[in-house]
Amino acid sequence: MSNADVLGRYGAAMMQTFGIPPRVLVRGAGPWVWDADGTPYLDLLAGIAVNSLGHAHPRVVAAITEQAGRLMHISNLFASEPQVALGERLDALVAGDSGLPARTFLTNSGTEANEAALKVTRLTGRPRLVAMEGSFHGRSLGALSVTAAAAYREPFEPLPGNVTWVPYGDLDALAAVMGDDVAAVVVEPVQGENGAISPPEGWLAGVRALCDEHGALLWLDEVQTGIGRCGGWLASATEGVRGDVVTLAKGLGGGFPVGACVAVGDAATLLQAGHHGTTFGGNPLAATVALTVLDVIESEGLLEHARETGDWLAGAIEGLGLSEVSHVRGRGLLRGVVLNQPNAREVLAAALEAGFIVNAPRPDVLRLAPPLVVTRDELQLFVDALPGLVRA
Ligand code: PLP
Repeated sequence: MSNADVLGRYGAAMMQTFGIPPRVLVRGAGPWVWDADGTPYLDLLAGIAVNSLGHAHPRVVAAITEQAGRLMHISNLFASEPQVALGERLDALVAGDSGLPARTFLTNSGTEANEAALKVTRLTGRPRLVAMEGSFHGRSLGALSVTAAAAYREPFEPLPGNVTWVPYGDLDALAAVMGDDVAAVVVEPVQGENGAISPPEGWLAGVRALCDEHGALLWLDEVQTGIGRCGGWLASATEGVRGDVVTLAKGLGGGFPVGACVAVGDAATLLQAGHHGTTFGGNPLAATVALTVLDVIESEGLLEHARETGDWLAGAIEGLGLSEVSHVRGRGLLRGVVLNQPNAREVLAAALEAGFIVNAPRPDVLRLAPPLVVTRDELQLFVDALPGLVRA
Protein backbone atom coordinates (compact mmCIF):
# COMPACT_ATOMS: atom_id res chain seq x y z
CA MET A 1 0.00 0.00 0.00
CA SER A 2 1.30 3.46 -0.97
CA ASN A 3 -0.01 7.04 -0.90
CA ALA A 4 -0.70 6.84 -4.64
CA ASP A 5 -2.56 3.53 -4.36
CA VAL A 6 -5.05 4.71 -1.71
CA LEU A 7 -5.47 8.25 -3.05
CA GLY A 8 -6.17 6.80 -6.49
CA ARG A 9 -9.16 4.97 -5.00
CA TYR A 10 -10.29 7.87 -2.76
CA GLY A 11 -12.01 9.93 -5.44
CA ALA A 12 -14.17 7.05 -6.64
CA ALA A 13 -15.11 5.79 -3.19
CA MET A 14 -15.60 8.94 -1.11
CA MET A 15 -17.92 11.93 -1.52
CA GLN A 16 -15.85 14.91 -2.59
CA THR A 17 -16.59 17.03 0.49
CA PHE A 18 -12.90 17.34 1.39
CA GLY A 19 -11.31 17.27 -2.06
CA ILE A 20 -8.50 14.73 -2.48
CA PRO A 21 -6.24 14.77 0.61
CA PRO A 22 -2.49 15.10 0.04
CA ARG A 23 -1.28 12.01 1.94
CA VAL A 24 -2.47 8.72 3.45
CA LEU A 25 -1.50 8.42 7.11
CA VAL A 26 -0.94 4.99 8.59
CA ARG A 27 0.37 5.40 12.12
CA GLY A 28 1.40 7.89 14.76
CA ALA A 29 3.36 8.21 18.01
CA GLY A 30 3.25 11.35 20.17
CA PRO A 31 3.30 14.38 17.85
CA TRP A 32 4.61 12.35 14.89
CA VAL A 33 2.72 10.57 12.10
CA TRP A 34 3.90 8.44 9.18
CA ASP A 35 2.37 8.20 5.72
CA ALA A 36 1.84 5.14 3.57
CA ASP A 37 5.22 5.66 1.89
CA GLY A 38 6.97 5.64 5.27
CA THR A 39 7.62 9.42 5.44
CA PRO A 40 7.42 10.97 8.94
CA TYR A 41 5.71 14.30 9.70
CA LEU A 42 5.65 16.49 12.78
CA ASP A 43 1.92 16.88 13.36
CA LEU A 44 1.40 20.54 14.24
CA LEU A 45 -2.34 20.32 13.63
CA ALA A 46 -3.31 17.29 15.78
CA GLY A 47 -6.28 16.34 13.61
CA ILE A 48 -7.51 19.97 13.85
CA ALA A 49 -6.94 20.59 17.56
CA VAL A 50 -8.09 17.11 18.57
CA ASN A 51 -5.18 14.79 19.46
CA SER A 52 -4.43 16.57 22.71
CA LEU A 53 -2.15 13.78 23.97
CA GLY A 54 -0.62 13.11 20.57
CA HIS A 55 -1.02 9.80 18.77
CA ALA A 56 -1.18 6.40 20.46
CA HIS A 57 -0.69 7.75 24.00
CA PRO A 58 -0.10 4.58 26.07
CA ARG A 59 -2.66 5.50 28.74
CA VAL A 60 -5.33 6.18 26.13
CA VAL A 61 -4.53 2.97 24.28
CA ALA A 62 -4.69 1.01 27.55
CA ALA A 63 -8.01 2.65 28.54
CA ILE A 64 -9.57 1.88 25.14
CA THR A 65 -8.33 -1.70 25.17
CA GLU A 66 -9.47 -2.38 28.70
CA GLN A 67 -12.91 -0.74 28.35
CA ALA A 68 -13.56 -2.23 24.89
CA GLY A 69 -12.96 -5.65 26.38
CA ARG A 70 -15.46 -4.93 29.12
CA LEU A 71 -18.34 -2.86 27.68
CA MET A 72 -18.41 -0.57 24.67
CA HIS A 73 -21.95 0.54 23.94
CA ILE A 74 -25.22 0.20 25.82
CA SER A 75 -27.48 3.03 24.47
CA ASN A 76 -28.95 5.65 26.74
CA LEU A 77 -31.64 3.23 27.88
CA PHE A 78 -28.99 2.19 30.40
CA ALA A 79 -26.39 4.07 32.44
CA SER A 80 -22.69 3.42 32.94
CA GLU A 81 -20.36 4.60 35.67
CA PRO A 82 -17.83 6.24 33.28
CA GLN A 83 -20.66 8.24 31.69
CA VAL A 84 -21.81 9.58 35.07
CA ALA A 85 -18.22 10.22 36.22
CA LEU A 86 -17.56 12.23 33.05
CA GLY A 87 -20.76 14.20 33.56
CA GLU A 88 -19.75 14.98 37.15
CA ARG A 89 -16.29 16.04 36.05
CA LEU A 90 -17.53 18.34 33.28
CA ASP A 91 -20.29 19.79 35.48
CA ALA A 92 -17.67 20.76 38.08
CA LEU A 93 -15.36 22.17 35.43
CA VAL A 94 -18.04 24.40 33.89
CA ALA A 95 -19.80 25.44 37.11
CA GLY A 96 -16.44 26.41 38.62
CA ASP A 97 -16.86 28.01 42.04
CA SER A 98 -20.30 29.47 41.18
CA GLY A 99 -22.05 27.04 43.51
CA LEU A 100 -24.68 26.55 40.77
CA PRO A 101 -25.94 23.15 39.68
CA ALA A 102 -24.79 21.92 36.27
CA ARG A 103 -25.85 19.07 33.97
CA THR A 104 -24.15 17.43 30.98
CA PHE A 105 -25.47 15.96 27.72
CA LEU A 106 -22.83 13.79 26.03
CA THR A 107 -22.48 13.71 22.25
CA ASN A 108 -20.15 12.35 19.55
CA SER A 109 -18.97 15.66 18.08
CA GLY A 110 -18.82 19.41 18.46
CA THR A 111 -21.66 19.96 16.02
CA GLU A 112 -23.92 17.70 18.03
CA ALA A 113 -22.94 19.46 21.25
CA ASN A 114 -24.00 22.72 19.62
CA GLU A 115 -27.26 21.20 18.40
CA ALA A 116 -28.06 20.30 22.01
CA ALA A 117 -27.15 23.82 23.10
CA LEU A 118 -29.37 25.28 20.39
CA LYS A 119 -32.29 23.26 21.73
CA VAL A 120 -31.55 24.54 25.24
CA THR A 121 -31.77 28.12 23.94
CA ARG A 122 -35.11 27.38 22.22
CA LEU A 123 -36.57 26.23 25.52
CA THR A 124 -35.97 29.63 27.11
CA GLY A 125 -39.04 30.71 25.17
CA ARG A 126 -37.14 33.64 23.69
CA PRO A 127 -36.94 33.75 19.91
CA ARG A 128 -33.67 35.46 18.99
CA LEU A 129 -29.98 34.46 19.02
CA VAL A 130 -26.98 36.72 18.65
CA ALA A 131 -23.97 35.20 16.85
CA MET A 132 -20.59 36.56 15.78
CA GLU A 133 -19.23 37.40 12.37
CA GLY A 134 -16.39 35.00 11.56
CA SER A 135 -17.90 32.27 13.74
CA PHE A 136 -17.81 28.52 13.17
CA HIS A 137 -20.08 26.16 15.09
CA GLY A 138 -20.46 23.14 12.80
CA ARG A 139 -22.09 21.88 9.61
CA SER A 140 -25.50 20.51 10.65
CA LEU A 141 -28.36 22.87 9.78
CA GLY A 142 -28.81 24.07 13.36
CA ALA A 143 -25.10 24.67 13.93
CA LEU A 144 -24.87 26.31 10.50
CA SER A 145 -27.62 28.75 11.48
CA VAL A 146 -25.13 30.41 13.88
CA THR A 147 -22.06 29.87 11.63
CA ALA A 148 -21.12 32.96 9.68
CA ALA A 149 -19.45 31.78 6.43
CA ALA A 150 -21.76 32.42 3.49
CA ALA A 151 -20.13 29.64 1.45
CA TYR A 152 -21.11 27.09 4.10
CA ARG A 153 -24.62 28.49 4.64
CA GLU A 154 -25.99 29.54 1.29
CA PRO A 155 -26.30 26.13 -0.46
CA PHE A 156 -28.47 24.95 2.44
CA GLU A 157 -30.73 27.90 3.10
CA PRO A 158 -33.28 28.37 4.51
CA LEU A 159 -31.68 27.68 7.89
CA PRO A 160 -33.31 28.13 11.29
CA GLY A 161 -33.60 31.90 11.53
CA ASN A 162 -33.84 34.85 13.87
CA VAL A 163 -30.09 35.27 14.29
CA THR A 164 -28.58 38.74 14.68
CA TRP A 165 -24.93 39.05 13.60
CA VAL A 166 -22.40 41.35 15.23
CA PRO A 167 -18.67 41.86 14.66
CA TYR A 168 -16.52 39.66 16.90
CA GLY A 169 -14.90 41.63 19.69
CA ASP A 170 -17.13 44.72 19.34
CA LEU A 171 -18.97 45.27 22.62
CA ASP A 172 -20.80 48.42 21.49
CA ALA A 173 -22.22 46.57 18.48
CA LEU A 174 -23.41 43.78 20.78
CA ALA A 175 -24.96 46.21 23.26
CA ALA A 176 -26.84 47.86 20.42
CA VAL A 177 -28.61 44.66 19.37
CA MET A 178 -29.27 43.15 22.81
CA GLY A 179 -32.84 43.01 24.06
CA ASP A 180 -35.04 40.96 26.32
CA ASP A 181 -36.04 38.77 23.36
CA VAL A 182 -32.49 37.36 23.10
CA ALA A 183 -32.32 33.73 24.19
CA ALA A 184 -28.53 33.47 23.98
CA VAL A 185 -25.35 35.02 22.72
CA VAL A 186 -23.10 32.36 21.16
CA VAL A 187 -19.37 33.01 21.30
CA GLU A 188 -16.05 31.25 20.72
CA PRO A 189 -13.44 32.55 23.23
CA VAL A 190 -10.91 32.38 20.36
CA GLN A 191 -12.19 31.95 16.79
CA GLY A 192 -10.18 28.91 15.72
CA GLU A 193 -11.61 28.29 12.25
CA ASN A 194 -11.36 31.99 11.50
CA GLY A 195 -7.58 31.83 11.98
CA ALA A 196 -7.07 31.84 15.79
CA ILE A 197 -8.49 35.31 16.39
CA SER A 198 -8.58 36.42 20.04
CA PRO A 199 -11.03 39.15 21.03
CA PRO A 200 -9.80 42.29 22.80
CA GLU A 201 -8.97 41.95 26.50
CA GLY A 202 -12.09 42.20 28.66
CA TRP A 203 -14.53 41.71 25.77
CA LEU A 204 -15.77 38.32 26.99
CA ALA A 205 -16.45 39.72 30.46
CA GLY A 206 -18.39 42.51 28.77
CA VAL A 207 -20.46 39.94 26.85
CA ARG A 208 -21.18 38.17 30.15
CA ALA A 209 -22.37 41.44 31.69
CA LEU A 210 -24.67 42.20 28.73
CA CYS A 211 -26.16 38.70 28.93
CA ASP A 212 -26.81 39.22 32.65
CA GLU A 213 -28.38 42.61 32.03
CA HIS A 214 -30.84 41.16 29.51
CA GLY A 215 -31.41 37.74 31.07
CA ALA A 216 -29.88 36.02 28.04
CA LEU A 217 -27.79 32.86 28.19
CA LEU A 218 -24.08 33.06 27.43
CA TRP A 219 -23.43 30.06 25.19
CA LEU A 220 -19.67 29.48 24.97
CA ASP A 221 -18.52 27.25 22.15
CA GLU A 222 -15.30 25.80 23.58
CA VAL A 223 -15.25 22.91 21.12
CA GLN A 224 -11.85 24.01 19.82
CA THR A 225 -10.58 26.21 22.66
CA GLY A 226 -11.43 23.98 25.64
CA ILE A 227 -9.70 21.10 27.44
CA GLY A 228 -6.25 22.63 27.56
CA ARG A 229 -5.91 23.94 24.02
CA CYS A 230 -5.62 27.57 25.15
CA GLY A 231 -3.72 26.80 28.35
CA GLY A 232 -6.67 26.27 30.73
CA TRP A 233 -9.48 23.73 31.06
CA LEU A 234 -11.71 26.38 29.49
CA ALA A 235 -10.36 29.40 27.63
CA SER A 236 -13.25 31.43 29.09
CA ALA A 237 -12.40 30.49 32.67
CA THR A 238 -8.85 31.78 32.26
CA GLU A 239 -10.54 35.16 31.67
CA GLY A 240 -12.73 34.70 34.76
CA VAL A 241 -15.89 34.27 32.66
CA ARG A 242 -18.44 31.50 33.20
CA GLY A 243 -20.88 30.40 30.50
CA ASP A 244 -24.47 29.29 31.07
CA VAL A 245 -24.10 26.73 28.30
CA VAL A 246 -20.68 25.41 27.28
CA THR A 247 -20.01 23.07 24.39
CA LEU A 248 -16.94 20.84 24.20
CA ALA A 249 -15.55 18.17 21.85
CA LYS A 250 -12.26 17.94 19.89
CA GLY A 251 -9.54 17.66 22.57
CA LEU A 252 -11.89 16.04 25.10
CA GLY A 253 -11.47 12.59 23.57
CA GLY A 254 -7.87 13.05 22.47
CA GLY A 255 -8.85 11.57 19.08
CA PHE A 256 -11.81 9.48 20.16
CA PRO A 257 -15.15 11.05 19.10
CA VAL A 258 -16.84 12.56 22.14
CA GLY A 259 -18.47 15.91 22.84
CA ALA A 260 -20.55 17.53 25.53
CA CYS A 261 -23.12 20.24 26.09
CA VAL A 262 -22.86 21.39 29.69
CA ALA A 263 -25.45 23.80 31.12
CA VAL A 264 -25.36 25.64 34.42
CA GLY A 265 -28.04 27.13 36.70
CA ASP A 266 -31.56 27.44 35.26
CA ALA A 267 -30.30 26.37 31.82
CA ALA A 268 -29.22 23.01 33.27
CA THR A 269 -32.78 21.75 33.56
CA LEU A 270 -34.37 23.15 30.41
CA LEU A 271 -33.94 19.92 28.42
CA GLN A 272 -36.41 17.42 29.86
CA ALA A 273 -37.29 13.79 29.12
CA GLY A 274 -38.02 13.30 25.44
CA HIS A 275 -36.57 16.63 24.32
CA HIS A 276 -33.32 15.27 22.92
CA GLY A 277 -31.46 12.02 22.37
CA THR A 278 -28.55 10.15 20.82
CA THR A 279 -27.81 6.47 20.30
CA PHE A 280 -24.03 6.59 20.66
CA GLY A 281 -23.47 9.72 22.76
CA GLY A 282 -21.98 9.05 26.19
CA ASN A 283 -21.19 5.40 25.58
CA PRO A 284 -18.90 3.85 28.21
CA LEU A 285 -15.95 3.61 25.82
CA ALA A 286 -16.03 7.28 24.82
CA ALA A 287 -16.59 8.35 28.42
CA THR A 288 -13.67 6.25 29.65
CA VAL A 289 -11.35 7.74 27.04
CA ALA A 290 -12.43 11.29 27.93
CA LEU A 291 -11.85 10.62 31.63
CA THR A 292 -8.39 9.27 30.81
CA VAL A 293 -7.57 12.34 28.71
CA LEU A 294 -8.63 14.63 31.57
CA ASP A 295 -6.52 12.58 34.04
CA VAL A 296 -3.42 12.72 31.82
CA ILE A 297 -3.76 16.46 31.20
CA GLU A 298 -3.93 16.94 34.95
CA SER A 299 -1.18 14.52 35.99
CA GLU A 300 1.26 15.66 33.28
CA GLY A 301 0.69 19.38 33.93
CA LEU A 302 -0.34 19.96 30.33
CA LEU A 303 -2.38 23.11 30.98
CA GLU A 304 0.70 24.97 32.15
CA HIS A 305 2.79 23.31 29.45
CA ALA A 306 0.35 24.48 26.73
CA ARG A 307 0.37 28.02 28.11
CA GLU A 308 4.15 28.29 28.40
CA THR A 309 4.98 26.41 25.20
CA GLY A 310 2.41 28.39 23.21
CA ASP A 311 3.84 31.70 24.41
CA TRP A 312 7.36 30.48 23.67
CA LEU A 313 6.35 29.36 20.15
CA ALA A 314 4.72 32.69 19.32
CA GLY A 315 7.80 34.52 20.59
CA ALA A 316 10.19 32.23 18.70
CA ILE A 317 8.36 32.74 15.39
CA GLU A 318 8.04 36.49 15.82
CA GLY A 319 11.68 36.58 16.96
CA LEU A 320 12.76 35.33 13.52
CA GLY A 321 11.85 38.80 12.25
CA LEU A 322 10.66 37.46 8.90
CA SER A 323 9.37 40.06 6.46
CA GLU A 324 6.84 37.46 5.24
CA VAL A 325 5.24 37.10 8.72
CA SER A 326 3.09 39.89 10.14
CA HIS A 327 2.50 38.46 13.64
CA VAL A 328 1.42 35.40 15.59
CA ARG A 329 -1.98 35.44 17.32
CA GLY A 330 -4.16 33.13 19.40
CA ARG A 331 -3.61 31.61 22.83
CA GLY A 332 -1.84 28.61 24.31
CA LEU A 333 -1.30 26.00 21.61
CA LEU A 334 -3.94 27.42 19.27
CA ARG A 335 -1.99 29.85 17.12
CA GLY A 336 -2.36 31.65 13.84
CA VAL A 337 0.77 32.71 11.97
CA VAL A 338 -0.44 35.73 10.00
CA LEU A 339 1.40 36.13 6.70
CA ASN A 340 1.85 39.37 4.80
CA GLN A 341 0.69 37.68 1.57
CA PRO A 342 -2.36 35.44 0.93
CA ASN A 343 -0.04 32.49 0.17
CA ALA A 344 -0.81 30.25 3.15
CA ARG A 345 -1.79 27.36 0.88
CA GLU A 346 1.59 27.44 -0.86
CA VAL A 347 3.36 27.63 2.50
CA LEU A 348 1.41 24.70 3.90
CA ALA A 349 2.23 22.63 0.81
CA ALA A 350 5.92 23.46 1.27
CA ALA A 351 5.62 22.58 4.97
CA LEU A 352 4.15 19.18 4.12
CA GLU A 353 6.97 18.49 1.68
CA ALA A 354 9.40 19.41 4.46
CA GLY A 355 7.68 17.09 6.96
CA PHE A 356 5.35 19.42 8.91
CA ILE A 357 1.54 19.25 9.09
CA VAL A 358 -0.20 22.62 9.48
CA ASN A 359 -3.31 24.06 7.84
CA ALA A 360 -4.55 27.32 6.34
CA PRO A 361 -7.93 28.39 7.75
CA ARG A 362 -7.62 31.68 5.84
CA PRO A 363 -5.62 32.60 2.73
CA ASP A 364 -3.11 34.54 4.85
CA VAL A 365 -3.08 32.44 8.03
CA LEU A 366 -1.30 29.21 8.98
CA ARG A 367 -2.86 27.47 11.98
CA LEU A 368 -0.70 25.64 14.51
CA ALA A 369 -2.58 23.43 16.98
CA PRO A 370 -0.07 20.73 17.94
CA PRO A 371 -0.69 18.03 20.53
CA LEU A 372 -0.44 19.49 24.05
CA VAL A 373 2.45 17.08 24.70
CA VAL A 374 4.66 18.64 22.01
CA THR A 375 8.09 19.75 23.25
CA ARG A 376 10.03 22.93 22.55
CA ASP A 377 12.69 20.87 20.79
CA GLU A 378 10.10 19.50 18.39
CA LEU A 379 8.60 22.94 17.77
CA GLN A 380 12.10 24.33 17.26
CA LEU A 381 12.38 22.09 14.17
CA PHE A 382 9.45 24.01 12.66
CA VAL A 383 10.76 27.40 13.76
CA ASP A 384 14.11 26.60 12.10
CA ALA A 385 12.38 25.53 8.89
CA LEU A 386 9.91 28.44 8.70
CA PRO A 387 12.16 30.97 6.89
CA GLY A 388 12.56 28.51 4.03
CA LEU A 389 8.84 27.64 4.00
CA VAL A 390 7.45 31.18 3.84
CA ARG A 391 9.77 31.94 0.91
CA ALA A 392 8.80 28.78 -0.97
N1 PLP B 1 -17.41 24.57 17.12
C1 PLP B 1 -16.17 24.99 16.88
C2 PLP B 1 -15.66 26.21 17.58
C3 PLP B 1 -15.33 24.28 16.02
O1 PLP B 1 -14.08 24.71 15.79
C4 PLP B 1 -15.84 23.12 15.39
C5 PLP B 1 -15.01 22.35 14.44
O2 PLP B 1 -14.04 22.84 13.92
C6 PLP B 1 -17.15 22.72 15.66
C7 PLP B 1 -17.90 23.46 16.54
C8 PLP B 1 -17.72 21.49 15.01
O3 PLP B 1 -17.19 20.37 15.64
P1 PLP B 1 -17.22 18.93 14.92
O4 PLP B 1 -16.42 19.05 13.67
O5 PLP B 1 -16.65 17.99 15.96
O6 PLP B 1 -18.65 18.60 14.65
